Amino acid sequence: MDDRTAGRYDGKVAVVTGAGSGIGRAITEQLLREGASVVANDLDVSALAADESPGRLVTVAGDVSADDMPQRLLDAVVTLGGGRVDVLFNNAGIGSARPALDIRPDEWRRVMDVNVDAAFRLATTVGRVMVDQGAGAILNTASVAGTHGLPSRVAYVVSKHAIVGMTRALAVEWGPSGVRVNAICPGLTESGMSERLKRDSPDYWAAREAVVPLRRAGLSAEQASTALFLCSDEAAYISGMIAEVDGGTHALYAGYT
Ligand code: NAD
Repeated sequence: MDDRTAGRYDGKVAVVTGAGSGIGRAITEQLLREGASVVANDLDVSALAADESPGRLVTVAGDVSADDMPQRLLDAVVTLGGGRVDVLFNNAGIGSARPALDIRPDEWRRVMDVNVDAAFRLATTVGRVMVDQGAGAILNTASVAGTHGLPSRVAYVVSKHAIVGMTRALAVEWGPSGVRVNAICPGLTESGMSERLKRDSPDYWAAREAVVPLRRAGLSAEQASTALFLCSDEAAYISGMIAEVDGGTHALYAGYT
């Protein structure tokens, strides 16, 4: 945070999923620094427990795809802010590195449950409140896999394309009610998810960094600052945007790498 963004989220109430690690954790920490009250969900919220923002953070541990999770998060919103909710960061997601001819139905279903169905159910639960308020902003974490094909990751690619489609559909449907809906498409980003990849396959990681026009992976904090910008009043006329936060990777034609 710097002088330009200090207090940008004062008095705002936000919900963040996948808040325990990586991009979601960076979003949560930046929101708290900028003055928001945050309802933070993750399977594991222990990394957030020691937070130094008394009264401005409620953690809700559990699977974002559980049937009762949208209502549990709304109940926490009532505890924090009386029921008003200004921002939703639909960020929880899981990977899947399985080619199309090998993927099992249960793995396909799990990726869709977490990456797509849970995001849609939470967007509609929170969106109903925002539509009634006549204001709100939703940010979905998609991926470069939401706009491009990647080898051997069919379920992940399909799920993130669905998130891009959902972003556009909801932006169109809820725009007349004053609700903005945008997405970020992170490229290679340092986070919990990618830490495992970097540790287990350093050569693969280096090869991926080498083709990024900026020649490095992004930071979770860099994804968070774009996400917070898109949900802030500074972005009041931006809706339906699919923001590729990837060091320029989407601009590169793969045939010339
Ligand atoms: P991460 O593993 O560091 O964080 C993801 C968090 O989501 C974890 O804390 C995990 O516990 C939580 N989570 C997973 N399944 C959950 C569930 N069912 N219920 C609740 N919480 C759950 O990874 P990240 O990179 O920060 O991922 C955040 C988002 O960014 C994901 O949607 C991912 O697809 C997307 N993304 C990441 C990259 C990258 O390179 N890191 C690139 C493109 C997109």
